[in-house]
Amino acid sequence: MALKLTVIGTGYLGATHAAAMAELGFEVLGLDIDPAKIETLSAGRVPMYEPGLEDLLRRHVAGLPDSSGRLRFTTSWEEVAAFGDIHFVCVNTPQKHGEYACDMSYVDSAFELLAPHLKQPALVVGKSTVPVGSAARLAARLAELAPAGDRAELAWNPEFLREGFAVEDTLHPDRIVVGVASEHAEKLLREVYATPVGEGTPFVVADYPTAELVKTAANAFLATKISFINAMAEVSEAAGGDVVKLAEAIGHDERIGKKFLRAGIGFGGGCLPKDIRAFMARAGELGADQALTFLREVDSINMRRRAHMVELAREACGGSGFLGKRIAVLGAAFKPDSDDVRDSPALNVAGQIHLQGGQVTVYDPKAMENARRLFPTLGYAASALEAVRGADVVLHLTEWQEFRELDPAELGAVARGRHVIDGRNALVPQGWREAGWTFRAMGRPHA
Ligand code: NAD
Repeated sequence: MALKLTVIGTGYLGATHAAAMAELGFEVLGLDIDPAKIETLSAGRVPMYEPGLEDLLRRHVAGLPDSSGRLRFTTSWEEVAAFGDIHFVCVNTPQKHGEYACDMSYVDSAFELLAPHLKQPALVVGKSTVPVGSAARLAARLAELAPAGDRAELAWNPEFLREGFAVEDTLHPDRIVVGVASEHAEKLLREVYATPVGEGTPFVVADYPTAELVKTAANAFLATKISFINAMAEVSEAAGGDVVKLAEAIGHDERIGKKFLRAGIGFGGGCLPKDIRAFMARAGELGADQALTFLREVDSINMRRRAHMVELAREACGGSGFLGKRIAVLGAAFKPDSDDVRDSPALNVAGQIHLQGGQVTVYDPKAMENARRLFPTLGYAASALEAVRGADVVLHLTEWQEFRELDPAELGAVARGRHVIDGRNALVPQGWREAGWTFRAMGRPHA
């Protein structure tokens, strides 16, 4: 009989995982502690913006016209426990307030709420990003709390999806990593992922700590790569070089590669910043803190980018401050094709300028609502053109396609000052300069 799956925590990761598992042919039941989210998902609507996800959801949510009916949502733990052979835990693991460490309270609470209902054999699969050592601890807790005892088993299956490509990445992942304690658990997970594995996705089997570390190591590497090129941007700026040319040239070396070498205002979002900090904190607890002190530098290079962008904006305003100046901010999401504003560099820069007296107007194609909730005192406009109207300086802070297609001449006609700063090195300087703008970008000469 086909396996029945549940997904606990239906945010960016969980909602995508649930819909993708239904697409792969499984019966899926999703649970969240947020009843509003469950109501939205049950109606076939996605509570966030993720390309392709709403279509996928509508294809499977029970009760919708022409749907497969394989996907349902609930807030009942009893129902979830009775339904599932495999339970994927996808809840959030934010940074603790005032500390670098990971806040495990959501994961812990999900286990405490689920386990007492597990009367039949079940595999609980953690997908959240957690500090190494969590799986071993949770496996013991699960066996202790579940009426099924040690027939309630744990596996860890870290997730590598990228927001903006979440559906594609979940249906066709570049690798699947599982940390297991038995052949039985491995067999079940091979069954779940038979389709992508059949298409050639590598399936890496490891123990718990290795599987947990794979995720944090991957994010630490990516963060390091971004901060590396941003450090090169700092040096290029000081030396009068061009970091875009530099990145292109070093990227031809296959050992370096071209990806993740775009200098700019750095990384943000709900993953990289908190994951590298949690990794450092955990290494400290393990007595291996020296191994990761370089991540502190990676983090501070990254945060310096935001401050540097504020300084560039101040210079463009004439150098004496932001009072009485209007600044248009293009972009609020932490990356394009997402409405996620968690630790968004764009909003961070907008907020800093606002706090220093600038009149900031933000426009983002998808993240307006989330941005407004987080920074209600910023100004918001309904289009890029409206944001730029009357502005002294324009900052390009999230590299949406829409911004690359803007007409500099049209914007120039409504702006008060023609100064643009590209915080993502994604605009074509020539077109802006030809339309009479002064164009600055991070790590590039400012002709
Ligand atoms: P999110 O905040 O969007 O979603 C988490 C969901 O879990 C929320 O809907 C919340 O209501 C729910 N929740 C919290 N506590 C719960 C509980 N006890 N029981 C049931 N539901 C509960 O977070 P996210 O971005 O989806 O991230 C989830 C995890 O996945 C994190 O560990 C994150 O690091 C990891 N991850 C995220 C991504 C990504 O791109 N978003 C990629 C890879 C890994």
